[in-house]
Amino acid sequence: MVQFDAREILGRLAELREGDAPTHGGRVLSYVYDSGVPEIDLLAADAIRMVQPVNGLDPTTFTSVAVMERDLIAFARGLLRGGEGIVGSVTTGGTESCLLAVKTARDAWRAAGGQGRPRLVAPTTVHAAFQKAAHYFDLVLDLVPVDVASGRVEADRIAQRLGSDVALVVVSAPSYPFASLDPVEAVAAQCDDVGIACHVDACIGGLILPFWSTGDGEAVPPWDFSVRGVTSISADLHKFGYAPKGASVLLHRDRDRQRLQYFATTSWPGYPVVNPTILGSKSAGALAASWAIVEALGADGFAELAQSCLRATRALVDIVGDIEGLRVMGDPVGPLLAVAADTSVPAESRVDPHHWADQARARGWLLQLQPGLEQADGTRLPHTTHLTVTPVTLERIDELEAVLRASAAEVRGVAAVAPADLLATLPADLLAGLAGGDASLDSEAALQVLRQIGLVGVEAGAGAASARLPERMAPFLALIETLPHALTERLLIELLARIVEPR
Ligand SMILES: *Cc1c(COP(=O)(O)O)cnc(C)c1O
Repeated sequence: MVQFDAREILGRLAELREGDAPTHGGRVLSYVYDSGVPEIDLLAADAIRMVQPVNGLDPTTFTSVAVMERDLIAFARGLLRGGEGIVGSVTTGGTESCLLAVKTARDAWRAAGGQGRPRLVAPTTVHAAFQKAAHYFDLVLDLVPVDVASGRVEADRIAQRLGSDVALVVVSAPSYPFASLDPVEAVAAQCDDVGIACHVDACIGGLILPFWSTGDGEAVPPWDFSVRGVTSISADLHKFGYAPKGASVLLHRDRDRQRLQYFATTSWPGYPVVNPTILGSKSAGALAASWAIVEALGADGFAELAQSCLRATRALVDIVGDIEGLRVMGDPVGPLLAVAADTSVPAESRVDPHHWADQARARGWLLQLQPGLEQADGTRLPHTTHLTVTPVTLERIDELEAVLRASAAEVRGVAAVAPADLLATLPADLLAGLAGGDASLDSEAALQVLRQIGLVGVEAGAGAASARLPERMAPFLALIETLPHALTERLLIELLARIVEPR
């Protein structure tokens, strides 16, 4: 009989968890989606426990999986105004939904006679999951520049990129970086006219935009299956479905098209494999939790939570708009927004959004820093700070307002970290190496650079490294903006790889 001390083990886990950012209470304005209803979390935990030993791989053996999935698809397609013909799957998250939307489109394009590498057309603001999808499934990624003031793409600019090599156009409802709602109706119609598939990435908006209205109290322009030409939609249950991580839905308008999402083989000596999603054996935990939450809340419950998000978002837009030196980027649609420096006021009145976020962080509030980015046409998107609003935000809106105002006051007039100053702080030999733009560092050389930048402690031996996020993130983000993408990508890979190497 195995002997162990569960309390001691869980005690250590509890200690580890103390190092985590707080998942509840609204101080982290990204990553976590706190409904503010503890009963929902308890219900989800109980549901997970009940299916803990189930293998979600096979809904014919574990029939509860099929029933829960069916119910969730029915709920989602109702919200997204899709009829009987809309079919879909529950996936393990937004990224998997996006990957599968692209894989399906690629295979449909090939089935229709497409040869060579197909193109994926999307605005610069499309979620990075689509860059990953293009990389995994070997599509040419064609990113269309957005307006640098509003963060919105013009439908015409997408229309200009359409052609017979395009397997998929992706638009967002809304985009993650700026909460911009892409012109879905116009783009989808153009796609439909020439027979190109159009995916709406509603990973973040899918379960909340159905209950949203714009700043003027108008309905959100149509972006769902009511729009002609929309062929598929992704919507995350683990965002505004308030479910624990590991659940999303991917819906398709066309049954035959959706069958291309599947992988099946009977040509190995084992059990027949038929998977609509990427994983094989998988947990049914997040599925069961999502199902239970949808049963508990129903559309009315979701609507109520959305109202709380809507009020908090309106309040935040007003608060930020009222802070001298900051501006809300564009016209956000949904419970998220990005904040940029207001360059219409003199430099001494401006607030750099990254310094601002660092001040808020020192007060225990985590806002998400987003780097500036040069687009394919040479225009430059400003660096911004992202806030995702959840139902709990409203309860603490006064506290948050005080933090946002005080943080701005502390850094008003302080210039953004300048690339030249930043580079001057780096060792000369490192700079010489960087000038060569050499991103083909081996893991040892990459580790040395990380140490020189101060992102990795020097105490660690040759193998393991203790990563420490800097106290202030603004210089770190400036580094990302300044150095070549290939280099920062390589360095970040090293950082993330080293933190899980056994000490
Ligand atoms: C979150 C998100 C994704 C990817 O989702 P994950 O669940 O993090 O994998 C894709 N698109 C948008 C717009 C998102 O907000």
